[in-house]
Amino acid sequence: MEKVAVVGCGAYMDSGYGCPGEWRCLKAAAVGDGTFDAPAQVVAFVKCECPGRAVMPTMGMAMKLSEIKPEKIYLSSCLVNAKPGCPYTSADELGKIIEEKTGIPVVQGTHDYH
Ligand code: SF4
Repeated sequence: MEKVAVVGCGAYMDSGYGCPGEWRCLKAAAVGDGTFDAPAQVVAFVKCECPGRAVMPTMGMAMKLSEIKPEKIYLSSCLVNAKPGCPYTSADELGKIIEEKTGIPVVQGTHDYH
């Protein structure tokens, strides 16, 4: 089973409207829904915090402490499809930064649940 990490939008998660930290990203990964081709093992769930600069160090620390390098990093649907969007970065830009720094492919979005 593929090992994956998820990055969620902390600003959205903290507001709590059935946020990804509760079940959506986790269910999609568990059953292979949404952007997951097959069931995947979530080995890290990193919360972006405005203005987003801590994502990379936090992801780096998660990989170091867990001693597991994910095969893919997923940006949560609430981060990718945010309306209004993130005022600091685009999901494309954030994904490119993560790919460049980690060498791990980034997938945009996780699930289609409402
Ligand atoms: S920087 Fe953007 S993606 Fe990150 S928590 Fe803030 S609003 Fe969400």
